[in-house]
Amino acid sequence: MPFRVYATCDIGEPALNRLRERGYQVEVYPNSDPPSKSTMLEKVRGGIDGLITTLRDSIDAEVFEAGKGKLKVVSQIAVGFDNINRADANRYKIPFTNTADVLTEATAEFAFFMMGAVARKLWPSEKLVRENRWGAWHPFLPFLGDEVTGKTVAIIGTGRIGLGMIKKCTGMDMNILCYDPAYENHEYVAGIQALMDLRHERGIQKHKTKIKYVKFEVALAEADFVSVHVPLLREGESSTPTFHLFNEKTLRMMKPSAYLINTSRGPVVEEAALAKALKQQWIAGAALDVFEKEPLPANSPLRDSEIEDRCRLFHHFASGAAETRLSPDPNIGMAGRCVQGLIDVLEQNYGGDFTKMPYVVNKEAFKN
Ligand code: NAD
Repeated sequence: MPFRVYATCDIGEPALNRLRERGYQVEVYPNSDPPSKSTMLEKVRGGIDGLITTLRDSIDAEVFEAGKGKLKVVSQIAVGFDNINRADANRYKIPFTNTADVLTEATAEFAFFMMGAVARKLWPSEKLVRENRWGAWHPFLPFLGDEVTGKTVAIIGTGRIGLGMIKKCTGMDMNILCYDPAYENHEYVAGIQALMDLRHERGIQKHKTKIKYVKFEVALAEADFVSVHVPLLREGESSTPTFHLFNEKTLRMMKPSAYLINTSRGPVVEEAALAKALKQQWIAGAALDVFEKEPLPANSPLRDSEIEDRCRLFHHFASGAAETRLSPDPNIGMAGRCVQGLIDVLEQNYGGDFTKMPYVVNKEAFKN
């Protein structure tokens, strides 16, 4: 019997064809918005072997129950998997996969560009030109931005993407403060310090710069830019949850001249508090790629025209480079890694041992 796969979103023909060429029967939900839960459950109940999902789908006990006895793998096209209930997957002993690594540099560079976009007021500048409101050149009118070079950036979460962001910030002669309660990569930090020292010694950068791990409060108090690279972890999922990590209290710890950059997950930032912080100028600005509710609701306070000069909004686009999203090569694209994770499980690669499969996330469920 050929394997049957249902995809809740189109991950592109090149990757899907890798499955079809192997004789898989593949059905793709045809619309650009996500299928309803009941549509997804109906498809799973219909007896599929593999389910391709993304961050828009809620994958929980209901889904695993619907697939009982037949569903063998859930393959997520994203690195974040806060939409998948890990405890439920483990209880039903269903492996799920993600697409880490291949989107690291794309996401980090987007965070880096967001930082420049908000600080140097790229959007207000372009708007001015497009709306034909551009007056004569003037030393400071109609507005000025803040330079990024030589400033201090705080990296909150030094996993894959956080380290990628550190590397990019090094090129802008920045001082770097790192915070991560669970994973400190001192070897990487030492490498970056050596690079900073070399750049200074050779006259590539004028001032000496430093990178170090610090406490969260210190990172917030001293940084000119705070860039967030954590997974969304709710109460009970971690001893250091990230849900509403940025709230009234922590936003007030930042400098009034500082900017917040969020490419992680929307609920890491309490949006009502952030809108207040921007309006009352507790901080200078924010650039957001992710939101508590996506798409961003029409009545979101973040859309307030009073803060539009200092609040950049993007459509969960940080990994959205063409090759990054769609390459069928598992070492290049999310789509390729997504189908490879599915193939590994269904075709029992690695001797059928889920704990050895590189893209399976919940390995703990299969350890003896
Ligand atoms: P990762 O697991 O490699 O790194 C996350 C790091 O955050 C880990 O080192 C972890 O210890 C740390 N962390 C956990 N709790 C923390 C806390 N309370 N405070 C500070 N650090 C904490 O993951 P990654 O590949 O770097 O991806 C990070 C997240 O970025 C993903 O989970 C996903 O939600 C998000 N993401 C978004 C996009 C996008 O398009 N906007 C793209 C890719 C990833």
